This record gives sequence, C-alpha cells and structure tokens, in this order.
Amino acid sequence: MSRVRSAFAAAGIAEPALDARILLLDASAIDATELAIRPERPVGEAGAERILAHARRRLAGEPVWRILGEREFWGLTFWLSPDTLVPRPDSETAVEAALRALPRRDAPARVLDLGTGTGCLLVAVLHERPEAFGIGLDRSPGAAMTARRNAVRNGVGDRAALIVGDWAGALSGRFDLVISNPPYIPAPDLAGLAREVREHDPRAALDGGADGLDAYRAILADAPRLLAPGGALVLEIGIGQADDVGALAFARGLRLDETRADLGGIPRALTFR
Ligand code: GLN
Repeated sequence: MSRVRSAFAAAGIAEPALDARILLLDASAIDATELAIRPERPVGEAGAERILAHARRRLAGEPVWRILGEREFWGLTFWLSPDTLVPRPDSETAVEAALRALPRRDAPARVLDLGTGTGCLLVAVLHERPEAFGIGLDRSPGAAMTARRNAVRNGVGDRAALIVGDWAGALSGRFDLVISNPPYIPAPDLAGLAREVREHDPRAALDGGADGLDAYRAILADAPRLLAPGGALVLEIGIGQADDVGALAFARGLRLDETRADLGGIPRALTFR
C-alpha cells in the first residue's frame, strides 16, 4: 500500500492515499477495517499483479473508478461505460432535492430523468420511492443500456424504462418529477478540466456549449408541458450558474422553489415548480 501511495504522490495524483486504498481493497479479499488494522497484509500473487496493472493505469491518468468499472452513489453501486460520466458525490444533492419534492415515500409518482447516463439519479430516486415509476432518457444508446443494467442491478428494473432520445422533444405525458444533470461545462473551459475528467469522461456529457447553458435551454423548452400539476423540476447546475439558469426557467414560467448546496457549500441543485 505504501509503495503504491508513494508512487501516486510522486506523480502528483490529487489523492494518492485514497486511490491506493481503493485499488488495494479491490485486489484483496478484505474489508476497509481489516486494511486499516494491517495495512501491509500480503495480498497474494494474483492480487499483487492486479494492483500493479491498475496502478500503472492510474499513473497514466485514468481515474480509479474507470479502472474498476463501477462507482458507489447514494449507497448503491453503478456500472460505468465510456458513454457515461462517473457519478459524482455532488450529484447526491440533486437526489436530496428530488426527495424533498416527492415528500411521501409511499406515494405513486412519475419520474423523468433527462440525460440519465449511468442512471444514478433515476435509480436513487426510485430506490427511495418504492411506488414510483420512472423513465430515463439519454441521447447515447450505450448510456441508456448502462442505465438499464444499473436499474436492474439495484433492484428497480421493473419500475424503470430507459429510452434513447434527444432531450424531451419527442416525449409527452406528465411527470411529478423531472430531474436532470445535463452537460454544463462552458466549451471554452473543457480544456482546463482535470485530466481524469477531460480524458476519461465523455465530452458529450460535459460540453454545455459556448456559455454552458445549451442543455438548460433545451430542457426548459419542454419542461413546463411535462410537469404534472404540483410537479417539480430539479436541475443540477455548475459553479456560478444559479442566476442564469434561474432566469431561463423564470422566462418559461417556472418558479424557483429551492436552492440546495452541495457539501462544499456550492449551490448545486435548483428546484422549480
Ligand atoms: N460536475 C462535472 C464536472 O465538473 C460536470 C458534469 C456535468 O457537466 N454535468 O466534472
């Protein structure tokens, strides 16, 4: 463990100890507590080979979650694919906002997740609202397929439909909750993202156009007609986008109901009615 950590630190990796620990836990049949008690416990030949191969990929810039092919979100585990973002802890803020918008755990609800990716937002909400039914939509067939597998993996497969589409233009119906974590990075900022994001997250999931707001414009064009009476729209936003997204929503007749900050104190999810 200490050798992997030192190599990561020397290479300038942001969280060398954490990444070393994650790769070590994956390659050994022990849990985090055992690892904490005996950090230098032997992992066997196969384990050592696996760690070495993974450490090389990490040193070449691949994030640990991509190497392992899955990541935890909202206490559930999600497969990744080249067509999806890695679920971010920040996005749990959008799940919290959604649950506040659907306050009754056992009430039936119709949920729509636009640009679902791994399906993490949809699956987390359906997991917490056992009577809800949801549609997850993505432009990428690979993402829709990954989301489908994740819905099944996390026990909500019979309440989730995954479809391919370009935002909500072709959809009709009324939803109690419309949620989205769309691409919102202004195109000129893409080159400045961390290597782990820039080289390994799909550009289509990041690129929000010249001002970062293209996806919000597309979503807000359809959201009002898709909301059931009393329904809510929850949007994840990037740093500093609250006012701009708020103004776009206001122009479509939506009213801001809640601004929710992530653990870093940054406004991250807006709820509109
Ligand atoms: N939060 C992501 C990042 O900064 C961006 C995700 C998105 O555009 N929706 O890497």
